[in-house]
Amino acid sequence: MRGALMYGPGDVRVTEREDPTIVQQTDAIVRVTAACICGSDLWPWRGQEDLAATPAPMGHEYVGVVEQVGSDVTDVTVGDFVVGTFFASDNTCEICRAGYQTHCVQRQPGAATGAQSELVRVPLADGTLVATPGQPDADLVPSLLAASDVLGTGWFAAVAAEVGPGKTVAVVGDGAVGLLGVLAARQLGAERIIAMSRHADRQALAREFGATDVVTERGDEGVAKIRALTGGLGAHSVIEAVGTQEAMMQAIRSTRPGGHVGYVGVSHDVALDGQELFFSGVHLHGGPAPVRRFLPELVDLIWRREIDPGKVFDLVLPLEEAAEGYKAMDERSAIKVLLTP
Ligand SMILES: [Zn+2]
Repeated sequence: MRGALMYGPGDVRVTEREDPTIVQQTDAIVRVTAACICGSDLWPWRGQEDLAATPAPMGHEYVGVVEQVGSDVTDVTVGDFVVGTFFASDNTCEICRAGYQTHCVQRQPGAATGAQSELVRVPLADGTLVATPGQPDADLVPSLLAASDVLGTGWFAAVAAEVGPGKTVAVVGDGAVGLLGVLAARQLGAERIIAMSRHADRQALAREFGATDVVTERGDEGVAKIRALTGGLGAHSVIEAVGTQEAMMQAIRSTRPGGHVGYVGVSHDVALDGQELFFSGVHLHGGPAPVRRFLPELVDLIWRREIDPGKVFDLVLPLEEAAEGYKAMDERSAIKVLLTP
């Protein structure tokens, strides 16, 4: 099969790789219909995060058709169209049943052999994969793919930030996760949604997804703007979808006392000052999103065409041109890149 490997910073190649096979009897092999490049794939691309070993198989977001299952797999069957998540989970342990599948006691990479490829081995298939009600129409595929990570992550951020009716929500970050955090906030009934973005195209998509206000300032100026828009108090709920020190502080300082920050940007060198945290009086909750918790509901919303999160894919490339996709996302000329094997 063909698959994308990262050899080092700025060096992704699509090469011939061995077809994955069933290793554990709880595995499934999925023929990938569509995969994508994640904002988190850019950290090693930029040399800001080391890869465990090179060349590294890339990709953890995917939808496709089950081609083979191990003998212990009972819930998904060959021919099912499935959506997977970036961590494999059994969905039965105590942590999973509490809704924290990304911290499953059996947690493993969800796309064990890399999803930016023609085939992928998915461990713990019963717990990890969600089958759609049938084969999807082609126009639903991008949205189902978004559910695999960015939509589920934005959704978790909104839930972690306690978004709900009557609330004012601020969203730090205008990448795919931040934009889908806006969509989630609208679905969860937020009254006012303030997107923080400096890019006209992303602002437009944020408004389409439900943002009522846009703030272009960032850092302390952005905080001042959020406070000005909320009677000096700060937002009830703030979504942090970047992972840098500036973004995290912007999120905490934009939140009113008693409010909630949902942080889902993968943290890179973020350090919190204990005194400031103590006196802020805000709730912090986040981490790797348990997308699997929300997946059945999200697939249903997409299937009934109530939401269209696939709009975050503004560049579609054949798998062979994966490197071009990394470049486009790194330069921010694309919000999110969909790859078709
Ligand atoms: Zn579990």
